[in-house]
Amino acid sequence: MADLPVLELQPEPAGPQGGGALLEVTNLSVTFPTDDGLVRAVDDVSFAVAENETLGIVGESGSGKSVTSLAILGLLPKVAEVTGSVKFRGRELLGLERSELRKLRGDSIAMVFQDALAALNPVFKVGAQIAEAITVHHELPDAEVRDRVVELLDLVGIPNPAKRADQYPHEFSGGMRQRAMIAMSIANEPDVLIADEPTTALDVTIQAQVLEVMERIQDRTRSSIVLITHDLGVVAGTADRVLVMYAGRQVELGTVDEIFYDPRHPYTRGLLASLPRVDGTRGTRLHRIEGQPPSLIFVPPGCAFHPRCPHAQLPDPCATKRPELHALTGLHVSACHFAEELPAMSTEDLAADADVAADEVVQP
Ligand code: SF4
Repeated sequence: MADLPVLELQPEPAGPQGGGALLEVTNLSVTFPTDDGLVRAVDDVSFAVAENETLGIVGESGSGKSVTSLAILGLLPKVAEVTGSVKFRGRELLGLERSELRKLRGDSIAMVFQDALAALNPVFKVGAQIAEAITVHHELPDAEVRDRVVELLDLVGIPNPAKRADQYPHEFSGGMRQRAMIAMSIANEPDVLIADEPTTALDVTIQAQVLEVMERIQDRTRSSIVLITHDLGVVAGTADRVLVMYAGRQVELGTVDEIFYDPRHPYTRGLLASLPRVDGTRGTRLHRIEGQPPSLIFVPPGCAFHPRCPHAQLPDPCATKRPELHALTGLHVSACHFAEELPAMSTEDLAADADVAADEVVQP
């Protein structure tokens, strides 16, 4: 596939971190007022993403992972109260004028959404929509824009890209639409790409292709990727580090090896035990974390996970004291009162530990 020509972009101001964190999120909280009370969708979340690094953010629906990404991009409605700090190359984004944020969005920081069909406008040709993503930030001759559109479609693995550029979204398959949206997101070679469940609606083959496209793009552009997913399996082969969220809070953060081979939070262990295994026998039972995530209006006191946790010590301290993030080895942190005492476990042990429910799901 063709290499993209390098656009003559304005050089970005150097950040205080030098080659360190491109994106720094510190004590980020997001609250929405509702008729039933305040929803604390994100509660004191901090992380940083370095150049060329992929951070996976994992959690069930309602864990706050998508709201975190929308807060970073300034895409939340005005009623949302956002506190804390979000810095891109050392520049504070929270409180920035919308016009300034618009300049950054799609250029320095871009987003890939879950639903490509909804994100692409059905009445405009795919090529025209990618072209607009370029021209909104850069004045270029039409021919140059057209060449770049075709090259972008080629880069994300769309066959016959010149022809496909002149087609409408409904003429693309689901996987091709997702790749077209990635092409649109990387049109200006952003420094940070935030992908929110980019593969959820796709079958495993197309999912692997889309993840491979993102990896290839990262190799070329050295961009940072924030990969948001409910599926730990998606981050296994893609992410450098993993942040696990539950009920709007971060519960564990570590390298992909730390999270997969030495998880130090019972929720992370439950997610791991729920993964189908490639070496699993057909018909063997998958495990699930018993219970449901809490309403974000009525988050349980103490540790929010305690009603579902097989290791909870009740009432003290698990239902009375909110666990702080404990530093473990290196940059590995866990918000569990017993993070250090949890026994090391094999994958089989994890499944047994996950408080197996009677109505387990059968592995296909
Ligand atoms: Fe379970 Fe208690 Fe740890 Fe929370 S603090 S994860 S309830 S053991």
